[in-house]
Amino acid sequence: MRVLVAGGAGFIGSHLCEALLAQGHQVIAIDNFITGNIHNIAHLIGHSYFEFHEHDIIEPLKIESGPVDAIFHLASPASPVGYSRHPIETHLVNSVGTHNLLKMALLDKAKFLITSTSEAYGDPLVHPQREDYWGNVNPVGPRSCYDESKRFSESLTMEYVRQFGLNARIVRLFNTYGPRNDPQDGRVVPNFIMQALNGHDLTIYGTGMQTRSFCYVSDLVAGLLKAMHTEGTAGEVINLGNPDERTITNFAQVVANIVNPDVEIVYLPGRVDDPNRRCPDITKARTLLNWEPKVSLEEGIRLTAEYFRELINKPLDNIELLAS
Ligand code: NAD
Ligand code: UDP
Repeated sequence: MRVLVAGGAGFIGSHLCEALLAQGHQVIAIDNFITGNIHNIAHLIGHSYFEFHEHDIIEPLKIESGPVDAIFHLASPASPVGYSRHPIETHLVNSVGTHNLLKMALLDKAKFLITSTSEAYGDPLVHPQREDYWGNVNPVGPRSCYDESKRFSESLTMEYVRQFGLNARIVRLFNTYGPRNDPQDGRVVPNFIMQALNGHDLTIYGTGMQTRSFCYVSDLVAGLLKAMHTEGTAGEVINLGNPDERTITNFAQVVANIVNPDVEIVYLPGRVDDPNRRCPDITKARTLLNWEPKVSLEEGIRLTAEYFRELINKPLDNIELLAS
């Protein structure tokens, strides 16, 4: 198959490109590097089945090498720091950018998968979050450029399913981590691991009683592939994430125990509109896709810390390694 990955130079996108190549697909990756990094795909450049285009999907796109059979849409800033730095671009990539990819999918008769987010549930009032929960989103707060534009992209995708019969599915990803996490994007996993490796205090925002559920990237990519290719997923919305819910204080203790037991944990002011609890109900993914995560948090943190340790010893040209 010829498979297009928008956001292919990002954290998850680069792992997805690798997995698709390993399955024997031809991969066309697109990225404008707004939050991605060429280092994530440097090892794939030159692979005979890999094609890369530096392109902003807000602009119309045409792939000269011919039509594609499937489109994975991962292009969007994803971390609170990333989308706060680029709020307008976030709105546009999830609206105009999504529309450009939907039009391309229709023209090429390609299957389509869009990566939405647990942020579509906002600060949820229902736990764990099932796909039929409509969410609790602040439409004008600092996170709204992400939450609301992802909700718009879901709605637009469903119109293409309803009006044109497009073979499309929506996948809501919960917090995902692993090697190639950007050490500067401010997410809790890279922050805590880099802080621990550098011997700095681990910085908890707020009480530390807020929860997240962390999914290792290889599990997530396996879920994306199943969501695209399993019969009966067209028109469906599916949560992908690890239901192992942890408080942020517990998560800090896990990182400290594994990476550097000598570091202290400090408490700083909380973030505005920080969701209080987040945990996926993955019943649908389990039954429809026969998928569930396999990598434990402890194992995933070990693997991710190894990556960051190597990065500190052998820094990439354009990534600075001073954790906050
Ligand atoms: P990332 O920032 O590493 O990857 C996103 C990629 O999209 C980057 O390489 C970026 O440069 C590219 N991009 C952004 N705007 C673009 C545009 N206009 N044109 C072309 N490329 C563009 O983030 P990630 O963590 O790999 O996330 C991938 C997708 O998964 C995103 O859509 C995100 O919203 C979604 N998601 C991620 C998580 C997570 O925990 N990582 C959770 C929920 C949803
Ligand atoms: N967080 C924290 N310290 C940090 C970074 C994040 O306590 O150095 C908290 C943040 O306030 C949130 C959780 O960790 O409650 C997850 O934050 P992240 O930015 O990783 O992603 P989010 O799930 O909020 O999109």
